[in-house]
Amino acid sequence: MTKPHPATVAVHAGDEPDPATGAIEPPLVLSSAYAFEDAARTAARFAGTEEGFIYTRWGNPTVESFERKIAALEGAEAAVALASGMAAVHGAITVDLRAGDHVVASASLYAETARMMRDRLSRFGIEVTYADTADLDAVGSAVREHTRVVWVETPANPVLTITDIRAVAELAHARGASVAVDSTFATPYHQQPLALGADLVVHSATKGICGHGDAIGGVVAGSIDACRRLRADAVRASGAAMSPFTAWVLARGARTLPLRAERASTTALELARRLEADPRIDRVWYPGLSSHPGHEVARRQMRNGFGALIAFEVRGGVEAGQRLYDRVRLVARAVSLGDVRTLLTHPASTTHVSMPPEQRRAAGISDGLMRLSVGIEHVEDLWSDLDEGLCR
Ligand code: PLP
Repeated sequence: MTKPHPATVAVHAGDEPDPATGAIEPPLVLSSAYAFEDAARTAARFAGTEEGFIYTRWGNPTVESFERKIAALEGAEAAVALASGMAAVHGAITVDLRAGDHVVASASLYAETARMMRDRLSRFGIEVTYADTADLDAVGSAVREHTRVVWVETPANPVLTITDIRAVAELAHARGASVAVDSTFATPYHQQPLALGADLVVHSATKGICGHGDAIGGVVAGSIDACRRLRADAVRASGAAMSPFTAWVLARGARTLPLRAERASTTALELARRLEADPRIDRVWYPGLSSHPGHEVARRQMRNGFGALIAFEVRGGVEAGQRLYDRVRLVARAVSLGDVRTLLTHPASTTHVSMPPEQRRAAGISDGLMRLSVGIEHVEDLWSDLDEGLCR
């Protein structure tokens, strides 16, 4: 059989029929512990010489089934599911760090990631330098002798800054650092960072992988060895295990990811084009537009479209943006992204309010910037809602 398309992988990977019952949909196994047959086999399980489950924080069949699906979608050897996207971000950054190590991070980041790096890593003696990772020279200048990790978010919150993953990975590896990519905005359908040279890829599975806005989870994919270390550190020892119910919900969402992502990215491109041509809009950021500074790199490293997120500035600044925000009726005023529903956010007063204003401005977040996460509604209904909201 030829290499299956991601649409096929999303449906089938990780979903072998249940050996006990033959059920083709993976059963939801909620048990926290698993029975052993006798003393010798119990000891063998603990010694790792016999395969099998022991305790759900260490491993669970439903969670493993979800992990196999994501590993397949990312073209990875393995994946580790965690309790939230932030648990995945924190686990992936810290797994190999020691006090005195140094991290280089994208200047454009999800604000909670930025806050964790600023307030938490510093307490453990880890220094972070922020660099515009879209600028290879800036990354090169930021890397030091004791840099262990280069942390990239691409496309990045909220103006969809694009980092050339392959170029950053070559640079970082030559200087002895590893590269982890938060690929949440792209989902595994639009981007495979490991194929471009990254060591780890991280997702808030709460977003496009779930797709229905009804579960919080995170996942990291990479080599078997990296995932073994991450599971021991961030899941077993730190306790950020994903609940089996969440894994079951997320696997169900992931099966339709390609369908949803294709529809949302096609609609997002059309809306981005209309917004860009509209005199009521000052500026639009969408990696699928040739006006986006990262368009050429995005064309090379993304696939099947450019994702569901658009950022734009309404002419008239904060007031005009807030008027649109208050007026939309179909589009929901809500944070999060990657949902079947279209969601509108005002980053400066919500998701990025904890970021110091100067860091916000350096990340391209003006006070009037709006972020739209495009869902799977019909494009004309979405346009009509935005159009009416923009009318004076
Ligand atoms: N990474 C990115 C890019 C995000 O946008 C988010 C949340 O919005 C996270 C990580 C954190 O994910 P979670 O809310 O699932 O913890």
